[in-house]
Amino acid sequence: MHGRVNPTLPVVAELVRRGHSVTYHTSPAFRGEVEAAGARVLLYPGGDQALPDPPTPIALIEGLAGAAVRLLPSVLADLRRVRPDLIVHDNACPWGAVAARELKVPAASSFTTFAFNRQVPSPTRGSWELLAAAVTRGCGGLGYLRSRWGLRRRFDAGGLPWVDLGNIRQPLNLVYTSRAFQPGVEEFDRAYRFVGPSIGARPDDPSFPADRLRDPVLYASLGTVFNADPRLLRSFATGLASLGGSVILSTGQTDPDALGPLPDHVLARRFVPQPEVLARAAVFVTHGGMNSVNEAMYAGVPMLVVPQGADQPMVARRVVELGAGLSLRTQDVTMGSVRSLAGRLLHDPRFRAAAGALRVAQHEAGGYRRAADELERYLRLGTA
Ligand code: UDP
Repeated sequence: MHGRVNPTLPVVAELVRRGHSVTYHTSPAFRGEVEAAGARVLLYPGGDQALPDPPTPIALIEGLAGAAVRLLPSVLADLRRVRPDLIVHDNACPWGAVAARELKVPAASSFTTFAFNRQVPSPTRGSWELLAAAVTRGCGGLGYLRSRWGLRRRFDAGGLPWVDLGNIRQPLNLVYTSRAFQPGVEEFDRAYRFVGPSIGARPDDPSFPADRLRDPVLYASLGTVFNADPRLLRSFATGLASLGGSVILSTGQTDPDALGPLPDHVLARRFVPQPEVLARAAVFVTHGGMNSVNEAMYAGVPMLVVPQGADQPMVARRVVELGAGLSLRTQDVTMGSVRSLAGRLLHDPRFRAAAGALRVAQHEAGGYRRAADELERYLRLGTA
């Protein structure tokens, strides 16, 4: 997923700039951007893999364990040639953790969501619900056990959690948000480094008419993954348009033409240069994807969060709790509700002040440079 890859790219670029060589195992969809960051791409066998649909916790752990068994022979063969000094893997990448143990090199884990604790439970944690789902799924549960047995028989899988494969921890865990945004941050020890959003230079988009924007700039996006209902996007556009200024609407998976005619000062495109837009924006209507919210806080922009799934309801709650925005359920979205709530965000200075405090925290966390420092230090000292 882009959300898992994006924050790692500026870290790759920074490590390369400091003279390290970086190889990056990924699938063809990400090849271009990973190479542009300066890494040598090693492709997983089997091309781009779809996520389980629906992505229930039991389907996820089964998919992750199965992928580990399938990918490890080729990943290990690649890595034996590369001979890395350090492996950095996603927190839901069991094959990265197993490869590090097989090769006896240190590993660090990369958290692009919140880090997990009691307030933010890992979606794949062992629970009665998960057990019940495994029993109902029947063969699904057995598929997981088969893959785990295969992993154990063929590889050094000793360090892996028995169930919670979406929460693989290491002696160093990089979390791409600030301590201020992480719920229950005092529960985490020094193995967790909250490095803040990792926002680097993105490719220029000369077709984006940045010089024609009028204040207040009002921005809406439901991210790159969700297939948004055109009526929902239309309510965002018309609700925001009634507040004046320029409205920018990123439509993601949805064709902008499906929204029908929009007011003149609405610019609807599938993809816009988000950090650049946020730097000008007064309000952001967002699905609450962790990257989008991190980027909005980095720019100090108050948010109206309309969660669509995954961890977004939790992200929305945290934004509201910290006073940096409001949240709205999808079924309550109308032109009127968007206008009224976005209007409050625009005119009540308390939201801007709370978003401003988070902006400071997000900048002070250090971003990709701090992440690179932490990795270098870990490599040097052998401990986080
Ligand atoms: N993004 C962008 N332009 C767009 C829409 C999204 O640059 O028009 C980027 C955004 O800056 C963020 C990522 O895509 O880095 C979206 O990640 P997020 O975790 O917010 O949501 P997802 O797309 O994974 O649901």
